[in-house]
Amino acid sequence: MALIVHKYGGTSMGSTERIKNVAKRVAKWHDAGHQIVVVPSAMSGETNRIIGLAKEIMAQPDPRELDMIASTGEQVSVGLLSMALQAIGKQAVSYAGWQVPIKTDSAYTKARIESIDDAKVKADLAAGKIVVITGFQGVDEQGNITTLGRGGSDTSAVAIAAALKAQECLIYTDVDGVYTTDPRVVSDARRLNTVTFEEMLEMASLGSKVLQIRSVEFAGNYRMPTRVLSSLTDPLIPLEEEANSGTLISFEEDTNMEQATITGIAFSRDEAKITVLGVPDKPGIAYQILGPVADANIEVDMIIQNQSVEGKTDFTFTVPRGEYAKAMAVLEGSVKAHIGAASIAGDTKVSKVSVVGVGMRSHVGIASQMFRTLSEEGINILMISTSEIKISVLIDEKYMELAVRSLHKAFGLESA
Ligand code: ASP
Ligand code: MG
Repeated sequence: MALIVHKYGGTSMGSTERIKNVAKRVAKWHDAGHQIVVVPSAMSGETNRIIGLAKEIMAQPDPRELDMIASTGEQVSVGLLSMALQAIGKQAVSYAGWQVPIKTDSAYTKARIESIDDAKVKADLAAGKIVVITGFQGVDEQGNITTLGRGGSDTSAVAIAAALKAQECLIYTDVDGVYTTDPRVVSDARRLNTVTFEEMLEMASLGSKVLQIRSVEFAGNYRMPTRVLSSLTDPLIPLEEEANSGTLISFEEDTNMEQATITGIAFSRDEAKITVLGVPDKPGIAYQILGPVADANIEVDMIIQNQSVEGKTDFTFTVPRGEYAKAMAVLEGSVKAHIGAASIAGDTKVSKVSVVGVGMRSHVGIASQMFRTLSEEGINILMISTSEIKISVLIDEKYMELAVRSLHKAFGLESA
């Protein structure tokens, strides 16, 4: 017998028919002797619908009031699922976040979980009940309802699993796992049986479509094994088969080290590059350029500073394409004159491609294999950055898909 947390996304909860299927699946696990806590999302489209209503009233609704209503989709889901379980003869009880309670800070619309009280839930489980808890929502110190950011039910589920010291957190979703790259770009992309937390974080551009990235951080911090698996299978397939399906996000030491050196190819299409030319090469310049950019809440990713020539250097960095205009305005505004730069150049038609894998730690030559592959395709590299388990290059966006496909092949990631 184990304590297991199930999380079901909006699609899985999309109609009463589907909710009945979720109940059948949950009941199957309970019948096998496990203690089950279920964390559902709102029915698909519901959170968007509610936020849309708020925007009909005012363009910038008060975040506290927005959370008050945005959290309600999950409350409907837990009640319906609890009923669906009762309808097939299970004892079930639903709770909103404040009833557990799941305590968060007061950062409305993007609150962080601070603590989860396990007493009530443990008592219910011991009494044989299935416990159904709202995803996405919590309560702050003053009793205000908060939400955890879009897609936050994943984080709720992993946090609840960690608080209850569950054996595993199963995230049921409409995809059947995490792939070596986006199957829409590479048709023979392969589903990974396991991926480490660190790789999952590095593959955010792929992974975030599957999981809210904060949930992966949570899983890593609390060492909570988390599995992404399909909710579209027949709910009554054998439990053993289901328990080993999908992709397990795990710890390096737990995964099979026989695996390939590279785990996946991540990419992000919408990047932009900014170069500040002819800046004096002296202490404080990087700070004077990037400080105002950070103050404008713009996230900077890759950064390089060239070798200086006659005391002058060029400074290049990337920002998300959507932030390009804002970043340029900041730089052209006060920064350029202040630091005495010659000019500022930009390129909004660039993309980032990364090879990711913990195997890189124990293998040399990954970077050169990557660069050779790109050169064989005639793809020019504009910038390079590396971490212990990732090598990223910035390239012309025209070649992004070609780069992903050739790297996927060169590192032997395709399905057998
Ligand atoms: N219902 C919320 C959303 O749509 C939370 C979630 O689904 O994870 O973002
Ligand atoms: Mg989601």
